[in-house]
Parts: sequence; structure tokens; C-alpha cells
Amino acid sequence: MAILNIVKTGDDILKKRSRPVEKIDERVLTLLDDMKDTLAKAQGAGLAAVQVGILKRVVIIDVGDGPIELINPEIISTKGNREVYEGCLSFPDVWVVKNRPVKVTGKALDRNGNEIYFKDMEGLMAQAFCHETDHLDGKVMLDDIVRYVEEGELE
Ligand code: ZN
Repeated sequence: MAILNIVKTGDDILKKRSRPVEKIDERVLTLLDDMKDTLAKAQGAGLAAVQVGILKRVVIIDVGDGPIELINPEIISTKGNREVYEGCLSFPDVWVVKNRPVKVTGKALDRNGNEIYFKDMEGLMAQAFCHETDHLDGKVMLDDIVRYVEEGELE
């Protein structure tokens, strides 16, 4: 277990596409464990491997119910559209308004290689799933924003 360094604004790796995990080996399992520790310490809702400098399609999401490990996550379908406030551990102290789907259905592999489905996710879970899969495609939070949040708006 280790706390990894989180890549911050301006690092070009954040714009790179991550590669699918072909085989869930010791290195992937260690990465999952280290990312869980790192996310817990940073108190974020999600972390993609690219944010710790590793271009693999590996994500941890924790929206308050404990960490969920996602390997090769994919969005299958979305419904609706809403504006949400969003932040990112790679952009400390920056908040934006983005358009995100109301409902998201997705899938991923767990650490045992079993396919897991997430049907009609809503709220922060749906948002985090979209945010983290964006990271895997080299998109960052500041791409396609509605607007920046003004100072004092969230207080
Ligand atoms: Zn992020």
C-alpha cells in the first residue's frame, strides 16, 4: 500500500488515452490498492490511473459508500442531461459547471476479472463514472465546460 503522487494541471499525460488492461496481474492489483489509498487520503470522489501517471484503464470511485474498483470501465448508455458542479483532484481549487447525463448505465471488470454492470446510475455516482471515463480518453475536466464557478458561489 502506498500513497501515489497525483498529477496536476498542466501535465500533458492527462491528455493521453489510457490503454485497456489485457491481464489483471499483480501490478494491476497493486495499482488498485495504491489508488484506493491515494483517493482516500485526497478525499476525492474518484481517481483514474492516468492521474497517478499510469496510462491504464483503471479507476477507483468512492461517492461515500466505500471504494469501487473499475477495470476497463465503459459507458453503455446515458439518459437525459443536467448541469452539475464538478471538481477534479488534478485541478485543485477549481470548480466548474458541466453538462452530465441524468442516468448512466456502464460496465467494468472487477479485480477478479468478472464483468460488473451498473444500471441507471444517478447523482454523484453517474457523474463520477463519466468524469473518470473521460480521464481514460484523455479528456480533462476543463474540456467542454458550461462555465467556471464564481468565487463564493459554492459557499
Ligand atoms: Zn478528475
